[in-house]
Amino acid sequence: MEKVILDGKQVSQDIRKKLADRVETLKNEYEITPCLATILVGEDPSSETYVRMKGNACEKLGIKSEKIHLSADIDTEELLNTIERLNNDASVHGILLQHPVPSHIDERKAFESIAIEKDVDGVTSTGYGQTAFGFGKYPSCTPAAIMEILHYYGISAEGKNAVVVGRSPILGKPVSALLLNENATVTTCHSHTKDLPAVLSSADIVVAAIGKPQYIRGEWLKEGVVVLDAGYNKGNIGDVDYDSCYQQASAITPVPGGVGPVTISMLLKHTVDAAEESK
Ligand code: NAP
Repeated sequence: MEKVILDGKQVSQDIRKKLADRVETLKNEYEITPCLATILVGEDPSSETYVRMKGNACEKLGIKSEKIHLSADIDTEELLNTIERLNNDASVHGILLQHPVPSHIDERKAFESIAIEKDVDGVTSTGYGQTAFGFGKYPSCTPAAIMEILHYYGISAEGKNAVVVGRSPILGKPVSALLLNENATVTTCHSHTKDLPAVLSSADIVVAAIGKPQYIRGEWLKEGVVVLDAGYNKGNIGDVDYDSCYQQASAITPVPGGVGPVTISMLLKHTVDAAEESK
């Protein structure tokens, strides 16, 4: 059986090359510099790294990155005021509030206050609803990345059994909706699912979005399955047991270098899309 390693770095490079041309056109022909505002609340080191990586990726492509770092002791109101200011700032095209915010802040309320046309990270319930209905402009970036990888490699979801493990609002649920919109027969599993291996045994496509290192085992999968591992655990380890899943798979994403780099590229793409919409 021919095996394909779904190379996220290659997919990502391809997306960024195309985006660079669009950024140039926006600047030269419309005097618009796409701008992503990132909001970080508190001092969580992983969140700081994620925000820095996103900012660097923007700058490499000529997208302006406005970094807002708020102290951990602000209240929900102050965060809402910051988002409101960015909603009203015409030079800002996308807003990303880095998850998680400190627990005394109402994160859902803050996400919901992001203007839909600037919700490039796909965190609002309106954005999710539009994605599920099939006309969302900016689905959450990891689900969008998973679909982008399938498209890049010409893997159709049509008529396939897709099993998504995880149902978070930013990952499992929206990727289930996107696969359904592309005519897959979708099963969404979660921590209450009975006999996960039995459900997975009929999967043609598996999306792992659990947050548990090496949880999904190759023995649970049928031969020829396509495996997309969104997991990103300490030590650069995915949610699937790569070696045993590789044995069964016709195509599989590695970790790192799979879904992760494409996720950042989708954020950049959505920001450029939003800047073009603002013309
Ligand atoms: P999350 O909010 O913690 O959700 C995890 C989901 O997995 C929940 O729906 C949970 O079920 C389900 N689950 C937990 N244990 C399970 C089990 N034993 N069997 C079946 N389902 C189980 O996590 P998330 O934010 O969606 O992230 C998932 C993974 O993706 C993490 O590894 C994260 O680091 C990674 N991630 C990667 C990117 C990227 O860019 N590559 C972006 C975001 C997240 P319940 O709903 O029943 O609790």
